[in-house]
Amino acid sequence: MPLITRDSYLKQRDITYHKEWNKKLEKTMDATINQINEFLKEIRISDVEVVSGWRPQQLNDSIKNAATTSKHLTCQAVDLLDLKPFPLMHAILENLTAAEIHGVYFEDFSYTPSWVHIQVVPPKSGRRVFVPNSNPPLVANKWKGLEFYDRQFI
Ligand SMILES: [Zn+2]
Repeated sequence: MPLITRDSYLKQRDITYHKEWNKKLEKTMDATINQINEFLKEIRISDVEVVSGWRPQQLNDSIKNAATTSKHLTCQAVDLLDLKPFPLMHAILENLTAAEIHGVYFEDFSYTPSWVHIQVVPPKSGRRVFVPNSNPPLVANKWKGLEFYDRQFI
């Protein structure tokens, strides 16, 4: 698997949901993929698997727990597979300065059991790693939050 590609991001949804796809989304998607790939390169990640890229409204509505204003709708976010021992999460936590430079933000990792959510727009809180909703975390023990991160996994 290479870095994020148009194909892996779209999964042909530009065809299956062609009524929702447009030039503006295409342009935003290109910029998002480019921005996130540049960040991944800098943190030395060269292989990723896209779990979820663009989500048309119709599809997003059918996903349990998906944010109604998800950045996936606007092609400003991606979910990348990250299984135990969570190499991508740890690479990110070790490189938060690079995240700042590249303008990327992450959902609190305890809300994303087997993937990492990366977006190119800040959340309302402006936090680099943000809690996405008011539900309890899905995997409370995956990490304890930035303030508790002590490199114990490295
Ligand atoms: Zn996501």
